[in-house]
Amino acid sequence: MRNYIIALDAGTTSIRAFLYDTLSHAFVFRAQQETECSFPFPGWVEQDAEEIYSKAALVVSRCARAAGAGKIAGIGVTNQRETVVMWNAETGEPVAPAIVWQCRRTSEECAKIPPEVAERIKQKTGLLPDAYFSASKMKWILDNVPAARDLLREGKLRAGTIDSFLICRFTEGRSFVTDYTNASRTMLFGLKSLDWDEELCAYFGIPRAILPEARPCDARMGEMRLHGETVPIAGDMGDQQAALLGQACLSEGDAKITYGTGLFMLFPTGKTPVVSQNGLLTTVAGSIGGKTYYALEGSVFHAGSGVQWLRDEMGLLENAAESERLARAVEDTGGVCFVPAFTGLGAPYWDPEARAILTGITRGTRREHVVRAVLESIAYGARDLSGCMERDSGLRLLAVKCDGGASANDFLMQFQADVLGIPVDRPAERESTALGAAFACALALGIHDEREIAAVRRSERCFLPAEDRARFEALYAAYCRAVSRARLRP
Ligand code: ADP
Repeated sequence: MRNYIIALDAGTTSIRAFLYDTLSHAFVFRAQQETECSFPFPGWVEQDAEEIYSKAALVVSRCARAAGAGKIAGIGVTNQRETVVMWNAETGEPVAPAIVWQCRRTSEECAKIPPEVAERIKQKTGLLPDAYFSASKMKWILDNVPAARDLLREGKLRAGTIDSFLICRFTEGRSFVTDYTNASRTMLFGLKSLDWDEELCAYFGIPRAILPEARPCDARMGEMRLHGETVPIAGDMGDQQAALLGQACLSEGDAKITYGTGLFMLFPTGKTPVVSQNGLLTTVAGSIGGKTYYALEGSVFHAGSGVQWLRDEMGLLENAAESERLARAVEDTGGVCFVPAFTGLGAPYWDPEARAILTGITRGTRREHVVRAVLESIAYGARDLSGCMERDSGLRLLAVKCDGGASANDFLMQFQADVLGIPVDRPAERESTALGAAFACALALGIHDEREIAAVRRSERCFLPAEDRARFEALYAAYCRAVSRARLRP
């Protein structure tokens, strides 16, 4: 019986594949490969697309082997969004390194976008004209990589997000597709039309012909050969939207926060897109069973990556988990505040020129204070977003669901509940991104329906907020002052 689904999660820090048992609703096997980022210039972030593909192929193959012959019903894909790959349609070879979502190389170009175009972008795509999104990254490759231009002239160039690239390679070039959630992060895709926007493609100089066909999240995307068998690739979603589905959070007012490399908060608003007045984005939350749902989204570029920085560049930690013990070793940060603006600030500030700072250092500041300040900064980033979401939607946030690598940190989750003043609910299955991809695949193949999926989520722990609201509001106010000092033009 083909009762396993492989959920492939191509993240920024690692590529993972999970074997999901559709009968027990559990992950029974996982394979993981770390992926490298390179930082060739300040603010630039790249990855080797070929390495992403080979590691993805390896982890998928390991899962298939673990399942045994004839057991895989399908493969669902989820991925880091916005990151751009351009490749040769004939050979599948990338023409340049993948430009990662965090990369700021096009921020000057984006700052030149006139206000009237910015407004058109906002109305059509729900996004703000920022280097974060794919369009300016695609334009950069076309402008700066001669091999890309040569292929374009020959009609052999393809451009897409990581899902598109991986599906294209897995299907040996037969499927050139993406899904609405990934497409909605490119700044070239109409939120309501659910199609590439001619006007925006022309504005950024991206020919429509080099872009993939966009399909709903629960569509069949292609077929791949896996250990001699033909297996459907079915279901494709950007990682944040997959996490939303994995957390069974599609209805209005249910919010989730993912604590990974960055921090992503999504707040579903139902079948109508809400345009933000407070620096948030409007995005496709999912397109399932013929219905398209929307969400307000806030992204903070650096969250867990601050912890990685403490470990790798500062040498203050042996591993990410140690941050919890160190943060608890002190009563507070001793007045130290950290703003993780390594590559500028995302929502709600959208300031590409800001840079990370540590404020309030005294002769008595210890590594524990700095580590605690870095963890606290993650929670303050979410507090910035929750306030905007409530103002934009007119709804009160009553609780949030959490997931992602750093949600394992109990200190951080408790501090988050205290700073937001609402419960933070952690699911038993922390891999909600992969779970979302497995669900999308199960829906695409007709294995489960939406009701069954909603019933799978179990809470592992709910962190309740402290009574002392004033104390945490004062700490947040101190963080806001530090943010204004991280900016050139506060
Ligand atoms: P992504 O999907 O962006 O690759 P993950 O969800 O795998 O990210 O989370 C990895 C991030 O979480 C890393 O940046 C790491 O520093 C951080 N992280 C992992 N465990 C902890 C922990 N116990 N405390 C704080 N941060 C953590």
